Amino acid sequence: MKRDYLLRGLIFCPECGSRLAGKARYGNRFYRCNNVDKIAGSRVCNGSYIPAEQVEHAVWNAVSDSHNNPELLADQYRKQLADSQVTNEFDLNKKQITLALKRVVVQENRMTDAYRNEAIELDRYKLEMNQLSARRKTLEQQQE
Ligand SMILES: [Zn+2]
Repeated sequence: MKRDYLLRGLIFCPECGSRLAGKARYGNRFYRCNNVDKIAGSRVCNGSYIPAEQVEHAVWNAVSDSHNNPELLADQYRKQLADSQVTNEFDLNKKQITLALKRVVVQENRMTDAYRNEAIELDRYKLEMNQLSARRKTLEQQQE
């Protein structure tokens, strides 16, 4: 039976900050830290199983809240934007550049949505879009 993990790869381990993966256990859905030592194959982090319904419910509530609180939503967009720029540009290989470019497009779309939904002001929208387009140019240059 196929199981859906809506938040797979989108939420992070509270112990070590790694992405959480979806995991079925005793017929229930869980999220668990995916931090595995790639060489030894052993588990690096002892982050516990988190019941999927519980965390999905919590995230759903947070998303609902953020719709009632545009400032919170805008903060999250800014944080995502900042996170995406932490990546060391010099270490990017071709595949990573392609992925990074896709993320830029996704972020541009999100920004546009945020602006359309009046979650952010025009000035901020312009500023963020300028930053994104600068990043896109940097990435496109590296791709050549
Ligand atoms: Zn972990």
